[in-house]
Amino acid sequence: MNLTDYKGILVYIEYENKSICQISLELLQEARVLADIFNEDVIAVVLGYDIKDLADQCVYYGADIVWYADNILLEEYLTEPCTDALEFLVKRINPSSLLIGSSYQGRDFAPRLAIRLGTGLTADCTELGVKVLDDGTADPNQGILMTRPTYGGNLIATIVCENHRPQMATVRSSMKIIKDTTREGIVNEFSPLLKKSRVKILETIIEKTTEKKISEESVLVVGGNGVGTESMFKELYSLAKILNGGVGVTRSLVEKEWAEHRIQIGQTGTIVRPELYISFGVLGAIQHITGMENSSCIIAINKDRDAPIFKFSHVGIVGSTEKILPKLIERLSK
Ligand SMILES: Cc1cc2nc3c(=O)[nH]c(=O)nc-3n(C[C@H](O)[C@H](O)[C@H](O)COP(=O)(O)OP(=O)(O)OC[C@H]3O[C@@H](n4cnc5c(N)ncnc54)[C@H](O)[C@@H]3O)c2cc1C
Repeated sequence: MNLTDYKGILVYIEYENKSICQISLELLQEARVLADIFNEDVIAVVLGYDIKDLADQCVYYGADIVWYADNILLEEYLTEPCTDALEFLVKRINPSSLLIGSSYQGRDFAPRLAIRLGTGLTADCTELGVKVLDDGTADPNQGILMTRPTYGGNLIATIVCENHRPQMATVRSSMKIIKDTTREGIVNEFSPLLKKSRVKILETIIEKTTEKKISEESVLVVGGNGVGTESMFKELYSLAKILNGGVGVTRSLVEKEWAEHRIQIGQTGTIVRPELYISFGVLGAIQHITGMENSSCIIAINKDRDAPIFKFSHVGIVGSTEKILPKLIERLSK
């Protein structure tokens, strides 16, 4: 395999109700940064039925080229037609990389596709990067450095796909989305040969929630075990309301059943990047840190001055939740 024959960073686009999912928009930005370093194109792929409009939109979010397949067999996501269509496209355009959201869909088809393409897959990456040379510039000759937690989250591994293309990764990105409606790109249709899937969707049940996703909040008030009591935990919502933000938690509070998993931050929860992250009684375990370390401003309150969270904080306050939280609510509500 001659690696230089493979060009372009291909991004699989997911959507819901005719709107591109945040995870795919973030991946387009991630791909944009890498493509500029490697001097390659960002290529988006959209599969579905009556989705030309979505394909056009990908250009505004960073794609140079978009390939879309419009076929009734792709109307609803199913593993087999999706894998067939992507295999067809990848073999036709030979991208250097294929980035897929670390979502239910991505996790479902990516391993199957990797096997068919005879390449490796780094699953659940929390970071993508490039090798930096001694002079501080990026080394375009190395592949993408794909970073993910390993050994139950106790180690962070950086993986390189040295000998095969495309380099495949499912990614939990937290890039800021940039929309530029003046961008121009090429939008092409492709027609993969598809067989009818052996699987049939009988019913789709859409989870109804009026609450905002924690990944969309610009302020997050976060509680860990050190909030102490459930009533003190509920006070986090009072502070969040004053700050016009939401509440997030560590896994400990989900395990205690004080909070739902959908507001858990971290490796096995959601990756967030708010303008302000303010935590009470959070240790700063690596599995939590990977989910919030890119927040613009991190304020941590913990009674232990050696708590690991302080290494990642812009402002650290040594003190107890029960003293600081009520005072903060009182002050800020004035
Ligand atoms: C495979 C795997 C995946 C995981 N995924 C996640 C994940 O996605 N997200 C996640 O959060 N965790 C995750 N974990 C768990 C993680 O390892 C930690 O156990 C967890 O984050 C710790 O939660 P905590 O900080 O709330 O609690 P603790 O570890 O109990 O820490 C509590 C902190 O509060 C401080 N404190 C105590 N009392 C007070 C007080 N009165 N006032 C102020 N501070 C106080 C203590 O000094 C301490 O630092 C995962 C673990 C594994 C093995």
